[in-house]
Amino acid sequence: MSDLVKKMYINGEWILAESEETYEVINPATSEPVGVVSYGDDRDTAKAIDAAHAAFKGWSQLTARERSKYLNNLYELIRKNRDELAAIMSAEMGKPLGEAKFEALGAADNFMWYAEEGKRIYGETIPSSMANKRLMVIKQPVGVVAAITPWNFPVNMLARKIAPALAAGCTVVVKPAMKTPLSAIRMFELIEEAGFPKGVVNLVLGKASAIGREITENPKVAKITFTGSTDVGKKLMEGAAKQVKRISMELGGHAPFIVFEDANLDAAVQGLFESKYRNTGQMCICTNRLYVQESIVEAFTEKLIERLKNTKVGDGRVKGVEIGPLVDEGSLNSVMAHIEDAKEKGGTIAFGGNRLTEGEYSKGFFLEPTVITNVTPDMKVCYEETFGPVVPIIPFKDEASVIEMANDTVYGLAAYAYTQNNSRCFRIAEALEYGIVGINDGSPTQTQAPFGGFKESGIGREGGHYALEGFLETKFVSFGI
Ligand code: NAP
Repeated sequence: MSDLVKKMYINGEWILAESEETYEVINPATSEPVGVVSYGDDRDTAKAIDAAHAAFKGWSQLTARERSKYLNNLYELIRKNRDELAAIMSAEMGKPLGEAKFEALGAADNFMWYAEEGKRIYGETIPSSMANKRLMVIKQPVGVVAAITPWNFPVNMLARKIAPALAAGCTVVVKPAMKTPLSAIRMFELIEEAGFPKGVVNLVLGKASAIGREITENPKVAKITFTGSTDVGKKLMEGAAKQVKRISMELGGHAPFIVFEDANLDAAVQGLFESKYRNTGQMCICTNRLYVQESIVEAFTEKLIERLKNTKVGDGRVKGVEIGPLVDEGSLNSVMAHIEDAKEKGGTIAFGGNRLTEGEYSKGFFLEPTVITNVTPDMKVCYEETFGPVVPIIPFKDEASVIEMANDTVYGLAAYAYTQNNSRCFRIAEALEYGIVGINDGSPTQTQAPFGGFKESGIGREGGHYALEGFLETKFVSFGI
């Protein structure tokens, strides 16, 4: 049995959990098991933290050019194995294969980009106000980083944290989501093949609360970088506060998508499709509220429904499928509860609204892509994150009123607007209280651009040189001469 159990990667070795416990990973399209995985806890986490701590000195003292060789090796390996990584992601969380391949390539891109950017961690010299002093600022890695990632982008989320942390000279302990350990394990096999020194990158799997507690309480962890729900993020922030650990938080979202009457409607429908239905609506930057100007509500709704009628829902591994299953039954029930709540409060299901249960759908967690109209602000879809393929359409009168509605939320991750009025493009981009704004762009993310939220959507930024800053301390040195 132990040969079948997938292991954790700690200090350059593949090991079973101290508890000897395991669990099964389930394919959400078929409910079939796709792997058996070690279920670790705080004891394994402590070992991984010790290994990362011991490896820190050697890794941080390498030159950036030396570190970049390992990152580039990994870049090549992920590209070479992208089809396999995509197939694993699709099997463990249902992502359509095309999207999964795109994700794997995006993950690889992070390692290539930070391999280069790590060479540009510059300090500063500052003119002194005293003739006998010279002032210098240097940047140094924070130390051991603990990275906790979600299941919705299982490979890219790992890459977005590991690549800049390693480039900055930090060592890392990763805890991926329980639903998606298999793609993380495959990534770590590639990490091993890339030749990283032992202890530099470690993988722990298992009980989130025990692993989280060890990460927050162990003084050898200098920084926690987390992507997941706002509730868990707040708990980790509370824990981290006791030792004033550095934190980066990429949390939940509730993105508005605004379509003005002067928009190119076909482009807006395509942008909405990408921002709402990609990854089966399970993205932090997903559209959650669709605001359409009154004069074009009917035309836009018709075009959107037409697009959805031509969208294939199914097992992500089947060619042509654009929308896969929800990740598990709990997720499906949460999304269904939002639909039921909207119906009870007078909403109209303009398209979809049902769980798919017949034939090819009988064993999975499938939901029709859904459009709700006659929406009122008291409906959950208007203020709670709907993590699924459901969009409420809310008509609006003018620019001022829609900006007010769009900003009326505790979240501030991503927002979108479609308009062909150039002045309005600038006004809207500045007025939206969000960390990422897509103007006539339904998928505004790239490796080199900052990614993160205002308000309760997070603290800090991933992407570009902004991510590196999160893994560096700033040291001021004053030389008396
Ligand atoms: P989640 O329940 O918060 O889980 C995220 C990660 O935290 C998982 O690895 C989970 O482990 C772990 N975790 C749970 N409880 C923990 C604890 N007490 N201590 C330490 N770790 C703990 O979120 P999710 O359902 O996986 O992901 C969906 C959420 O993530 C949505 O709110 C979405 O908006 C957000 N998200 C944000 C971004 C962003 O960049 N802002 C990107 C993607 C997703 P287990 O899996 O083992 O429970």
